Amino acid sequence: MKKKTQLIHGGIPTDPQTGAVSTPIYQVSTYKQDEVGKHKGFEYSRSGNPTRHALEELIKDLEGGEKGFAFGSGMAAITAVMMLFDSGDHIVMTDDVYGGTYRVMTKVLNRLGIQSTFVDSSNLDTLEKAIQTNTKALYIETPTNPLLKVTDIKGAAELAKKHQLVTIVDNTFSTPYWQNPISLGADIVLHSATKYIGGHSDVVAGLVVVNSSKLAEDLFFVQNSTGGVLGPQDSWLLIRGIKTLGLRMEEHEVNTKKIVEFLLNHPKVSKVYYPGLETHPNHEIAKQQASGFGGMVSFDVGSEENADRLLTNTKYFTLAESLGAVESLISVPARMTHASIPVERRNELGITDGLVRISVGLEDAEDLIQDIENALSH
Ligand SMILES: *Cc1c(COP(=O)(O)O)cnc(C)c1O
Repeated sequence: MKKKTQLIHGGIPTDPQTGAVSTPIYQVSTYKQDEVGKHKGFEYSRSGNPTRHALEELIKDLEGGEKGFAFGSGMAAITAVMMLFDSGDHIVMTDDVYGGTYRVMTKVLNRLGIQSTFVDSSNLDTLEKAIQTNTKALYIETPTNPLLKVTDIKGAAELAKKHQLVTIVDNTFSTPYWQNPISLGADIVLHSATKYIGGHSDVVAGLVVVNSSKLAEDLFFVQNSTGGVLGPQDSWLLIRGIKTLGLRMEEHEVNTKKIVEFLLNHPKVSKVYYPGLETHPNHEIAKQQASGFGGMVSFDVGSEENADRLLTNTKYFTLAESLGAVESLISVPARMTHASIPVERRNELGITDGLVRISVGLEDAEDLIQDIENALSH
């Protein structure tokens, strides 16, 4: 089955109980048992809900794994995955991971004894050098937020196998439409489904797919024990969003390429970060491991003042956190998504005060370009 067909026919495309073509929203917490322990596969909705199950089957198929899991947010998904590890375990992570991921590792999970080191994973030597005797996993985010650095997933997974580590990939930016980390050797792939998978700025959710029955059993135990599950209404919204994921991703990219071209030729823009550019340092690997470059672009306008001028004068680019929706969004990572990263560390990483990140939506590209042009010359 090709990807676009799978988006619509993967998982459980029709409701087995009724034949309903759209999976019903099973707004239910508990299920009748005929005898103790004798039921139709569902007992209590923290452990399993038919709408959530349909979504979990769908994401499992889309990522090509063993089992899928839906959580109440991307951070709940990431935290549950980290609960697979024990106090004293160490994880090597991509340095410019999502700000919330950095925060949960360094301010919450560290208190429970889960240690982490952040390195530039786009360099496999750097990645390997960070492995310690107590390292249990490599956690890769690619492309990254907001610098669009790309890590070689296959190379990282090979390193992990050599050192008997688990490979975890945050696939939020590429989505399962463009990139399937499990097929490249990863063990666990996760998403903030709040972004492209939902796609309409109307749901907060997280998804995980694992590649083995052992990981499936372990993560199910964590999910059921800690309980950060996604509700049936939000599960339904994601199933609906996924049906148009392919169309949306294709169109996000068409618009993005036009905007990147425009930015490259604009005198006020000093730097453009986009993996689709041949001048991007990781362009070749991006091209190999993903079938598209996505709709996220960052660019440097030199100063906080210039960034502010742009942010406050765009009409179609909405100043907001988040990304991956039908509407175009604009943000300054240094003061928004990455504000929880200390300033020295931000500057080290290149997340300057003049760095602007856009999530290109599905409006007409001409309007979007005009919008940036007007705001930059305001
Ligand atoms: C947003 C985001 C997260 C966190 O997801 P939430 O749904 O906001 O909890 C994790 N990783 C990446 C790459 C993100 O963009």
